Amino acid sequence: MYDPKSTKAEEFISHDEILATLEYAEKNKRNSPLIDAIIEKAKERKGLSHREAAVLLCCELEDKNEEIFSLAEQIKKDFYGNRIVLFAPLYLSNYCVNGCVYCPYHYTNKHIPRKKLTQEEIEREVIALQDMGHKRIAIESGEDPVNNPIEYILESINTIYSIKHKNGAIRRVNVNIAATTVENYRKLKEAGIGTYVLFQETYKKDSYERLHPTGPKHNYAYHTEAMDRAMQGGIDDVGLGVLFGLEDYRYEFAGLLMHAEHLESVYGVGPHTISVPRVRRADGVDPRCFPHAVDDDTFAKIVACIRVAVPYTGMIVSTRESKECREQLLHLGVSQISGGSRTSVGGYYEPEPEDESSAQFEVHDNRTLDEVVRWLMELGYIPSFCTACYREGRTGDRFMSLCKSGQIQNCCHPNALLTLREYLDDYASPETREIGNRLIMSELVNIPNPKVREIVRERLTSIDAGARDFRF
Ligand code: SF4
Ligand code: SF4
Repeated sequence: MYDPKSTKAEEFISHDEILATLEYAEKNKRNSPLIDAIIEKAKERKGLSHREAAVLLCCELEDKNEEIFSLAEQIKKDFYGNRIVLFAPLYLSNYCVNGCVYCPYHYTNKHIPRKKLTQEEIEREVIALQDMGHKRIAIESGEDPVNNPIEYILESINTIYSIKHKNGAIRRVNVNIAATTVENYRKLKEAGIGTYVLFQETYKKDSYERLHPTGPKHNYAYHTEAMDRAMQGGIDDVGLGVLFGLEDYRYEFAGLLMHAEHLESVYGVGPHTISVPRVRRADGVDPRCFPHAVDDDTFAKIVACIRVAVPYTGMIVSTRESKECREQLLHLGVSQISGGSRTSVGGYYEPEPEDESSAQFEVHDNRTLDEVVRWLMELGYIPSFCTACYREGRTGDRFMSLCKSGQIQNCCHPNALLTLREYLDDYASPETREIGNRLIMSELVNIPNPKVREIVRERLTSIDAGARDFRF
């Protein structure tokens, strides 16, 4: 029985409800009046139900699809302006006891080098990340209670926050580790994490169990209910995601939105972010073995439909995707991207030789952070290193209400300019610096409140004189 308010996985992600949703979407994929009505509702920017969004995803009417894409672009502009927040992943350990068939870290892979960073190695990695200009990272680790217990993760977070190298600082640590207990989530919250991220991989239970044949992750309910436990542990910013390519994307899309609806109806706050990774080639993983591969056009449609269905949720795309693909997705709704990423354990301080790679997947966008920053600005975006919200206590429903009223923009835009200036002064190449400083001057006039504009001007001058970490 489908019940978004239930805390049982199989009730809030009901297989029967998803099948009924897909049937409804299939039946209505050319139903022009219904599609018009859903688009009209989406224009109110209050979001769509999973059924409504599924109809848009399946829509086969070309003119309506164009409307969906341009609405996604408009919503993106209205809620996120031209800012793109930057982050980098930091892999702590690839020891893992699970058997996920699509990931090279599965425990039966005997030829991948296994590594776990010591606190000294973490310090070296963090300094390398700070020297690139990063302020926000996502830590990643395999699941292994012996090698990577929660104490190791907590100690690592502490180390990361403690390192201040030159003007550098990691100001927000998001955490992507295996599903765990309420007690451990509480400890993560106390350690000062930003978002807790956990990809569902696939919402389809039988596929989930087949793709996760062994290890604690095999337990579908425990994994699917992880965000509930995170919320109960006090973490109110959580990040959802599926690994597109493992199952029919329409099924995953409906499941993802049902998960968001569940969080909203039980905890009063939907997901902080949604990530959209696709299956990638890696050691022992051939994407051709996954029959549900999603092509670029379908992928763009998925991103556009997520944007109109959950306008307040940030959307993340990683360097799994190529520069060209990322460029298209930025227009359609993506608000956060990684840059200069290494997906191996310890790859920032010292890049690994190719034949000894401990990487989780092949990176498609290999550009440096400076190149990514410049590219964004040339496309008309403001690269932002902002981490202000959770540090100002703007999390969970407090954050969401600011988002829904549009007031958050009064913080995001000035913070983007201030953190970009820090980056330009400390880390940018001369060419990037020149483009960036011009951009900041032209964006200053877009701050509507004259008082705020003046404060930003003063703070920019202070940053040039050496002060750091201003925020609204
Ligand atoms: S996806 Fe995560 S849990 Fe699964 S094998 Fe890879 S690191 Fe381990
Ligand atoms: S002000 Fe908050 S929502 Fe806006 S970019 Fe900064 S952290 Fe994100």
